[in-house]
Amino acid sequence: MLDVTNTSQDIDESGVDTAILPVGAIEQHGPHLPLSVDWAQAEYVSKLVANRMGALLLPGIPYGSSEVHDGFKGSVSITHESLKTITKDICMSLISQGFTRIGVLNFHGGNIALKVAVRQVNWAQSEGKAVLVQPMLQSGAKLTEIVETFDEDLHAGEMETSIMMHIAPEQVGEDRIDYVPSLDASAFDLGPMKQYAPDGIWGRPSFATAEKGKLLVEYMVNATIDHLNATFLRLT
Ligand SMILES: [Zn+2]
Repeated sequence: MLDVTNTSQDIDESGVDTAILPVGAIEQHGPHLPLSVDWAQAEYVSKLVANRMGALLLPGIPYGSSEVHDGFKGSVSITHESLKTITKDICMSLISQGFTRIGVLNFHGGNIALKVAVRQVNWAQSEGKAVLVQPMLQSGAKLTEIVETFDEDLHAGEMETSIMMHIAPEQVGEDRIDYVPSLDASAFDLGPMKQYAPDGIWGRPSFATAEKGKLLVEYMVNATIDHLNATFLRLT
């Protein structure tokens, strides 16, 4: 795997044509998880993906569009316009140097501008393609075999808590509140989370285990690589 600790000459001589761009979010995850959950997952999973694909791992974008977490201190949101623009700029810069395959790996559901960004990149030129993957969704079918409360899990629940117990157990607190509002995910379109989930949790973190987290990471990595390879193959 190559990353930005390599030299430009290393990158050139390697002939690498694939780059991986992780995108996260800095936002509250209840009283038991840190603000950095989405970014921590982004870095951890993207490194494994880039390593297995022999790709260039880019420094990612830690911030995302997290306006749904307004009112929880420490949640930092950037506008959809900013996220779209920086993602497009990075992809176009890479393609202009000869990278033909860019995997944009998104770890936060609120980063909806990424879809617009990759479409604009791909429609603007034919030299390279950016493919958007949300690893957590990509592995959907298999996730239900691991996650007991999958249907109730939207934020800081069994899934994210399990993943953090695997990748950064020292950052997981004991105060795991199970809370599932009697709403569906469209609530996110109507108002900030604090109104209907006052602790910042939508799910059942009490079901989390490190073993589930290990399986979730493996599934995310495999599903992401499968999707990127299949999509890039179709484009050649
Ligand atoms: Zn999260």
